[in-house]
Amino acid sequence: MATEIKCPTCGGESSVVSEEGSARLLKCASCGNEFSVRVHYIEESIPLETKVYRAHVDIGDPALVRKLQMKTKMVFDGHNNFHPGDLERQISQGLKSWDLGFYSGQEVEELLAKAEKIGLEVNFVLS
Ligand SMILES: [Zn+2]
Repeated sequence: MATEIKCPTCGGESSVVSEEGSARLLKCASCGNEFSVRVHYIEESIPLETKVYRAHVDIGDPALVRKLQMKTKMVFDGHNNFHPGDLERQISQGLKSWDLGFYSGQEVEELLAKAEKIGLEVNFVLS
């Protein structure tokens, strides 16, 4: 099997002599030099388009702020993009809608399931 790898000695075309896992033994067609190379396969292709959602919790009744904050923490705690201190700041500013950061599609599914269980309404906006 011919390869695109050139012989390190003379620059000639090489072909595969043997193959074991990621190691390959190649032989130069011009000078007969044998040399080994390692082949790295890319395990998983990176999706070209990773959708990201921004999470919001809207506050209808200001009397419910603490309750909503507690529920929000229950749902979002443990996610890297969730910062309780940042939520605290938005609450102290009296914001009517809390910005809870960015989440992947997979996280959104997980978060929505958790939110539904405790009756918290979270909006995810594709950004
Ligand atoms: Zn060669």
